[in-house]
Amino acid sequence: MTVLEQGQIQIHTENIFPIIKKAVYSGHEVFLRELVSNAADAISKRRMAAMAGDCSEGEEGKVAIRIDREQKTITISDNGIGMTADEVKRYINQVAFSSAEDFLEKYKQEEDAIIGHFGLGFYSSFMVAREVELVSRSARPDSEAVKWRCDGSPNFSLEGSQRDEAGTDVILHLMEEELEYLEPARLRNLITQYCDFMPVSVELEGETVNKKVAPWRQSARELSDQDYIDLYHYLYPFQGDPLLWVHLNTDYPYTLQGILFFPKASGRADWEKGEIRLYCNQVYVSDSIKEIVPRYLLPLRGVIDSPDIPLNVSRSALQTDRRVRSIGNFVAKKVADRLRSLKQDDPKTYAEAWDALAPFVKIGAMEDEKFADQVSELVLFGTTADASDQPGEEPIAAGEKAYTTLASYRNRQGSDQANRVLYCSDEIAQAGALSLWTGQGAEVLLAETVIDSQFIPWLETKHDELKFQRVDAELDDSLRDDKPEFSDQDGETQSESLRTLIKDALANDKVTIQVQALKGGDEAPAALILLPEQMRRINDIGALMEQRFPGLPDHHVLLVNRRHPLVEGLLKLNAVSVLVGSDASAASPSQQLAGNLARHLYDMARLSVGGLEPNELAGFQTRSTKLLAALMERGI
Ligand code: ADP
Repeated sequence: MTVLEQGQIQIHTENIFPIIKKAVYSGHEVFLRELVSNAADAISKRRMAAMAGDCSEGEEGKVAIRIDREQKTITISDNGIGMTADEVKRYINQVAFSSAEDFLEKYKQEEDAIIGHFGLGFYSSFMVAREVELVSRSARPDSEAVKWRCDGSPNFSLEGSQRDEAGTDVILHLMEEELEYLEPARLRNLITQYCDFMPVSVELEGETVNKKVAPWRQSARELSDQDYIDLYHYLYPFQGDPLLWVHLNTDYPYTLQGILFFPKASGRADWEKGEIRLYCNQVYVSDSIKEIVPRYLLPLRGVIDSPDIPLNVSRSALQTDRRVRSIGNFVAKKVADRLRSLKQDDPKTYAEAWDALAPFVKIGAMEDEKFADQVSELVLFGTTADASDQPGEEPIAAGEKAYTTLASYRNRQGSDQANRVLYCSDEIAQAGALSLWTGQGAEVLLAETVIDSQFIPWLETKHDELKFQRVDAELDDSLRDDKPEFSDQDGETQSESLRTLIKDALANDKVTIQVQALKGGDEAPAALILLPEQMRRINDIGALMEQRFPGLPDHHVLLVNRRHPLVEGLLKLNAVSVLVGSDASAASPSQQLAGNLARHLYDMARLSVGGLEPNELAGFQTRSTKLLAALMERGI
């Protein structure tokens, strides 16, 4: 063979090879992606050149990977455009080198910041190979094959060679510490990871490994629901079906395709790293793209494919990049559009999906003003009102529940209460207060997720006329029985004597005691804990900042329902003890009993709101038994 040339590659960095080998310590495996991408590019270049009549079309393009365990080599072959000796000199010695140099320059500044080591190109072979040979024959007519060889120093040789067909073989003589790549299973995994959706066949030892078809590159019209579901299962095995998906496709001002899925269970969602995969022209780049989509969309899954995301810059540069920002806004808008059309076209499905969608929508609205405007009419609340039986009207039925928008809720409110939004954040803990309201026909919204404690104040800042009021914040006149009270012979009303009795029994200044007659007869609770809205919110914020459970704030209101038989009984008992009780120094058994009952009433009210501390439970239980025994003794 004639030696065409021997020489030194002109580079600016002194000896680039040791740097390549060492600098990119992690992820040597990307060499395969880079080489297969080059091969696929060469195939599409050949197709274009053939169309222009510059060369023969050849067989269907394919990339073939072969392993030689004895020689410790892997060979990546393609039947693409190939290169002449001049082209090898230009493209490999110059282009490839300068782009590698460029990459390393950026890499040195930003260490591991370059996503997926993208753009390292041909020279990434030197991360795993001590010597690289390239045999190529141009597809243009009358071309001779050439062989280029480089042993890891800047020295290369170029000589005439033999190759029957047009195309290129890149032969990697693996370093001893990189022999893992001789394992077919390892290579197969890498092909599936990086090259699965590349539009050409990638064969390993004669067998096609990749799927080739990237559904996100097809138009939404060509895909059935099952196609989307299949893709989701393929990308995220054992994760159930997706809730819904958004097909992204734009050509201007950047090219971007993709499919994003809302997973069914957002509870396990990853709000930190995300699971959306980034592709560039159907080649996998990374599954950590938190710089690209807004944080509140990170728990989505699926694929974003764009050649216009700058990938060989640092992650921090990516975050401030204007194009990347506008890509993020585009994705958010498409997500909002999808939700809007679902709500319009199929409100029932939308309502059924709402609980899983809510975290994205609420956090998104709070974090991103534009998104907030896009989803302002898409926020739903569970409601205690019955679902409407008119299609398209709210509340919307979804399973056992009914959902409404805030606007529709407000329309149903009487004009005197148009700005008050009653809500309940825990149907069990607030059951007493909730049933008082619903018993009087009030509609109460259900805002039971952790996010709601921030979302509600945020909504109030958006609509400053609105006042959200939790069901247990205060009771209004409609819940009170306005029957007049009689005074006893000392001129004290029942309420006053009850208040004194309970106040003395509790001996706790932080608890405000209110006595009222509630509507609802025996069904109304005997006593209730009320937490004035603003005070409770301050406590909630404090708890959030200290990362503790909000619990029951020390200052709260005990509302006692004087119309409840238990309370009436308590009052009678007290009246007896006042009559009988002679000297103040020792409490009579009746007084003791009344005091214990009053404390018990308070504890029961606390128990139902989860405000009884675990260490108080034992005492509560002992007192329960004693009280029951005392009542038995009295023949009650
Ligand atoms: P990039 O692909 O980003 O241009 P590379 O370093 O990977 O950089 O490759 C440099 C050049 O070498 C390519 O642009 C291409 O012209 C040429 N090249 C590399 N691999 C092949 C191949 N398999 N077939 C034909 N040309 C190739």
